[in-house]
Amino acid sequence: MEKFDAIVIGAGAAGMFCAAQAGQAGQRVLLLDNGKKPGRKILMSGGGRCNFTNLYVEPAAYLSQNPHFCKSALARYTQWDFIDLVGKYGIAWHEKTLGQLFCDDSAEQIVNMLVAECEKGQVALRLRSEVLSVARDDDGYTLQLNGATVAAPKLVIASGGLSMPGLGASPFGYKVAEQFGLKVLPTRAGLVPFTLHKPMLEQFQTLSGVSVPSVITAENGVVFKENLLFTHRGLSGPAVLQISSYWQPGEFVTINLLPECDLDAFLNDQRQTHPNQSLKNTLAMQLPKRLVECLQLLGQIPDVALKQLNSREQATLVEMLTHWRVQPNGTEGYRTAEVTLGGVDTRELSSRTMEARNVPGLYFIGEVMDVTGWLGGYNFQWAWSSAWACAQALAE
Ligand SMILES: Cc1cc2nc3c(=O)[nH]c(=O)nc-3n(C[C@H](O)[C@H](O)[C@H](O)COP(=O)(O)OP(=O)(O)OC[C@H]3O[C@@H](n4cnc5c(N)ncnc54)[C@H](O)[C@@H]3O)c2cc1C
Repeated sequence: MEKFDAIVIGAGAAGMFCAAQAGQAGQRVLLLDNGKKPGRKILMSGGGRCNFTNLYVEPAAYLSQNPHFCKSALARYTQWDFIDLVGKYGIAWHEKTLGQLFCDDSAEQIVNMLVAECEKGQVALRLRSEVLSVARDDDGYTLQLNGATVAAPKLVIASGGLSMPGLGASPFGYKVAEQFGLKVLPTRAGLVPFTLHKPMLEQFQTLSGVSVPSVITAENGVVFKENLLFTHRGLSGPAVLQISSYWQPGEFVTINLLPECDLDAFLNDQRQTHPNQSLKNTLAMQLPKRLVECLQLLGQIPDVALKQLNSREQATLVEMLTHWRVQPNGTEGYRTAEVTLGGVDTRELSSRTMEARNVPGLYFIGEVMDVTGWLGGYNFQWAWSSAWACAQALAE
């Protein structure tokens, strides 16, 4: 049986970063993954350019049943610390929008950096490793792998959530938590497109690919101002992905398709100067033409000139375009979700070390726990911050 100071399960963002930091602090660390490559989600992330953090990271950008939990780790290892590390490896980056930082070249640079950091910490990385069982005794944890037995006094679960099973996602972490008596909160897909009920989907079929700026509001009052995208399955784009984390089945979302325009004032103004202009062409000055044409075909935009539009019709139109109420049929689920909401209850963990309060030597980091960030680099920052806090504790 091989012995280590710590075993980390999951060579994703959190696991690699934690193993590297603990290794560099002098710990003998084994890092296991069931896949054949480390950091598979990182490679796919940010359209291949990895949105590795956000300039505006703050605890309010995270959903959790225990909202204070993330504060300590985020404050101790910040976005600036990770930007510093990226800088040391000479990885060029840029801010795309809303503080989101992406690699100029490729997400592979982040994976290569994490692998190099692991090598610097002499981490033993074993890929294609299935963990068949986990047992605990007075000396710590013993793991049966396919073909080997390994042991360590400390075990870190960094196996992520359920989103994108094609990239190695598994319920492994939740099962380990339950095995040791920790509560696991119900999970659901987050940062995920909405599907629409059939009649509505058919109405908007011609709009697939149309993107519009929007303000989208959930029933609980949470608001995002980002782009909305019509797809052949329903609605997507950053606005929808963001609000999906706050949406529950059966609820409505309210969408303002003209967030930058006072539509009432605009129509009044246009009526004064161009009374014979069609309403359709007038609206097409503010909205994509395909959207206007579709809404007209659906009878939601009257086929009239501006001078013929009465005040009641105008009020209905303004309401429809600025308070469009949509009841999604559901979401596309874990298949396309970027994250998993819920997971290991953080009330069971120390916010300083990520260790289970009642199970000495057992740690949870990254997405496996009930901390989920907004779209825009917040989830990777949680992976880095929680991993760093855990690594400090492993080295204590
Ligand atoms: C397509 C996509 C794009 C994304 N883009 C971004 C982005 O640009 N910015 C951002 O902040 N977030 C992004 N995210 C979210 C982000 O990838 C995750 O929040 C983050 O990877 C979580 O890190 P983690 O280490 O906790 O889990 P993961 O990175 O998922 O790593 C978990 C690892 O554990 C391994 N594993 C699972 N089960 C077992 C097992 N039984 N035995 C051994 N190993 C196991 C998996 O193979 C995996 O390597 C994206 C997610 C997806 C799916």
